[in-house]
Amino acid sequence: MSDVYAEPTTGAAPTGPATLARYTTLCLGGPAGRLETASSAEEIVQKVREADARDEPILVLAGGSNVVIGDQGFPGTVVLLRSQGVQAIAEDGDAVTVRVEAGETWDDLVATTIERGWSGLECLSGVPGSAGATPIQNVGAYGQEVAETITAVQAYDRSHGEVVRIAAADCGFAYRGSIFKYSDRWVVLSVDFRLTRSPLSGPVRYAELARALGVEVGDRVPLADARATVLRLRAGKGMVLDADDPDTRSVGSFFTNPVLEREAYELLRERAADLGEPPSWPGAGDVVKISAAWLIDKAGFGKGHLGPEGVAISSKHTLALTNRSGTASTAALVALAREIRDGVHDRFGVTLHPEPVLINCVI
Ligand SMILES: Cc1cc2nc3c(=O)[nH]c(=O)nc-3n(C[C@H](O)[C@H](O)[C@H](O)COP(=O)(O)OP(=O)(O)OC[C@H]3O[C@@H](n4cnc5c(N)ncnc54)[C@H](O)[C@@H]3O)c2cc1C
Repeated sequence: MSDVYAEPTTGAAPTGPATLARYTTLCLGGPAGRLETASSAEEIVQKVREADARDEPILVLAGGSNVVIGDQGFPGTVVLLRSQGVQAIAEDGDAVTVRVEAGETWDDLVATTIERGWSGLECLSGVPGSAGATPIQNVGAYGQEVAETITAVQAYDRSHGEVVRIAAADCGFAYRGSIFKYSDRWVVLSVDFRLTRSPLSGPVRYAELARALGVEVGDRVPLADARATVLRLRAGKGMVLDADDPDTRSVGSFFTNPVLEREAYELLRERAADLGEPPSWPGAGDVVKISAAWLIDKAGFGKGHLGPEGVAISSKHTLALTNRSGTASTAALVALAREIRDGVHDRFGVTLHPEPVLINCVI
């Protein structure tokens, strides 16, 4: 499978040999203290052990599609994960368990599963980045999440200096979260996915996808149709990396959809009474998930809204903040994120939280 990470994944020019902007889809981030590349699970463990022995902070970086790295960069060791390999490790009736090395390109993996007739990842087509990062924030899109198919994660546990197997039930998967997010204890080495041998997708759960496929929610469609339609929908929103499209010089969604207790949700409805019903989805228990994109738009930050140094809200999707000029600083992007967060709070009393991992910067 291909390695799409080695060079800048979007248009902006690198600004120095160890400048981390080179390795992030935002094309932002200052220098690394030390930059190491690891091409196998053994090498990842070795590089991390060596940095720990030097008592240096470590940043594990794969596709760089979910990080915002400060202009000061990262003073410790950055380990670039480039391990490759996909292996069917178990078969059981219609189920096949596939072990995927952390550095595999996620979308190549999805394409492979579809070619082989393995159902379970098709709606996650086009998500940038690596397979090993998918458990970190329980990657999800168009009604699927990796938590539904991951059975276990092999990881290096820095606090005990050993490789461990963590069953899915112990990964703490939640909406855009897990025990791994904002923790530097574990380095994911490989991930096991349990997929189903079937020419058909799982039941389509996302209304927009069902409409685009011309089916009802709950129907199943050929795997290749699901993939093609998801890729088309994503491309229309600037959510598939494209070096020629500055709208994709982003981390995808910058803010998570707020999850509100019932009382807070009713307060929001009151404050938004003049704007109609806020789009929402029922959550587990008595909570309601609301659309961050709607809040941002209705607070007055529309598509294309410009910030300093040519950072901007994507012209295709209100939730993506972009380094449109390709020459902006992280400080400028963070200033735009703050403006939006504070504007939404002033208008609706709801606090937006960033989805990407912030490294040496705060909003
Ligand atoms: C255009 C675009 C669209 C996107 N769409 C979606 C979407 O639909 N759904 C979604 O969920 N996300 C989406 N994202 C976000 C991103 O693609 C995913 O979160 C992806 O899984 C990040 O992978 P990565 O390899 O780039 O991680 P990186 O950005 O390299 O790392 C992200 C974080 O995970 C940590 N990390 C990475 N690999 C490992 C590892 N092996 N072990 C331990 N820690 C690790 C890093 O230290 C960092 O904290 C999108 C991003 C972009 C740019």
